[in-house]
Amino acid sequence: MADIITMGSDNVLHVPDEPIIPFIEGDGTGVDIWPAAKLVLDAAAKKHGRSVAWKEVLAGEKAFNETGSWLPDETVESFRTHLIGIKGPLTTPVGDGFRSLNVALRQLLDLYVCLRPVRWFTGVPSPVKHPELVDMVIFRENTEDVYAGLEVEANTPGAEQLRSYLAETFGWEIREGSGIGIKPVSEVGSKRLIRASIQYALDHGRKSVTMVHKGNIQKFTEGAFRNWGYDLVREEFADVAVGWDDCDGKPGSKLLVKDAIADITLQQVLTRPTDFDVIATLNLNGDYLSDALAAQVGGIGIAPGANINYVTGHGIFEATHGTAPKYAGQDKVNPGSLLLSGVLMYEHLGWQDAADDIVRALEATIADKVVTYDFARLMEGATEVKCSEFASAIVDRL
Ligand code: NAP
Repeated sequence: MADIITMGSDNVLHVPDEPIIPFIEGDGTGVDIWPAAKLVLDAAAKKHGRSVAWKEVLAGEKAFNETGSWLPDETVESFRTHLIGIKGPLTTPVGDGFRSLNVALRQLLDLYVCLRPVRWFTGVPSPVKHPELVDMVIFRENTEDVYAGLEVEANTPGAEQLRSYLAETFGWEIREGSGIGIKPVSEVGSKRLIRASIQYALDHGRKSVTMVHKGNIQKFTEGAFRNWGYDLVREEFADVAVGWDDCDGKPGSKLLVKDAIADITLQQVLTRPTDFDVIATLNLNGDYLSDALAAQVGGIGIAPGANINYVTGHGIFEATHGTAPKYAGQDKVNPGSLLLSGVLMYEHLGWQDAADDIVRALEATIADKVVTYDFARLMEGATEVKCSEFASAIVDRL
């Protein structure tokens, strides 16, 4: 019988065999990729004697057209009650009080980790020589940094008031006519993100966590993030992990926690990908890094993502690309990003067998060169299929 997922006092998700999982179809190409992803997810669950009771909830254009609200309260409540959900891409409403619906959902549910695994799937066309060496998992802080939305527009009374206050109180002379943004980075926010990344690395047998920051310039925000991370290793993980400076880079059997400056990281993930494993980073760095890395292994058409609060158990798994409006309703785009987000969700629920099957079937489909337009244009001798046909081809190979 269909039932909801709960979080036990042991901090472990309790998942029934038929969990009720809310989904947002998504705007634009959501109408194409959601049915395709669902087809594969359902078939893989069924193979292992399970099923998902999908429950549609509204957000974005569909919600606005039906309810007059871009993000109805019932949608947020449904995600709150059911803990785990999945979503397609959403249009960002212009000038309607929301910076972005995605950011709003993350903030309302305090989904402080943006999880973006980046690995290559056999056969996927890539611009680098050795995409198989890329296997990283990015933990991007999701609630702070310049994404907190604390900005004032240039030449407004607010900006002038803030400029005068900063001049009088701190002696900071900010040029007239400047827009001003505030970048908050807290100890609590940094530590919970880094804690989640270390725990993940330990649970998944990973060899290192690299904290990526720009602390050489932004000392009290990004530099503090790094320092709090090393403090955390000593305070909470001393028996299983060690910071670089505390072991001279030789961790023995422990997990190594190290750090790297953001700019050099963007070079080294390309030139020395095997130096990076789990990455813990701040919001803006994480945004840049995840898309740059996704490009090495096949692009955003296939990059999965999730937003998670490991304490409350809430998680929303999502396609990382946007609504690609020029392709909407054409049954054309790659459903891989949403499908692999579903795979990530199955792994998170403990359905590793079904998740592994989907990955195997996806690789087999790509190996047969049966692919959507985005891969077909990069592969020789490929058979270009529609979004729905790609999903059926994966199901055939499950
Ligand atoms: P986009 O929708 O991600 O599309 C950019 C390009 O990425 C597309 O033109 C296409 O490249 C490629 N692409 C996107 N989805 C693909 C798929 N499923 N398969 C293969 N290729 C895919 O970005 P955008 O045009 O900047 O944004 C459009 C809207 O989406 C905006 O309203 C934006 O705010 C919103 N958005 C939402 C999210 C989200 O909900 N998480 C994220 C980002 C943006 P080619 O042209 O090369 O084929």
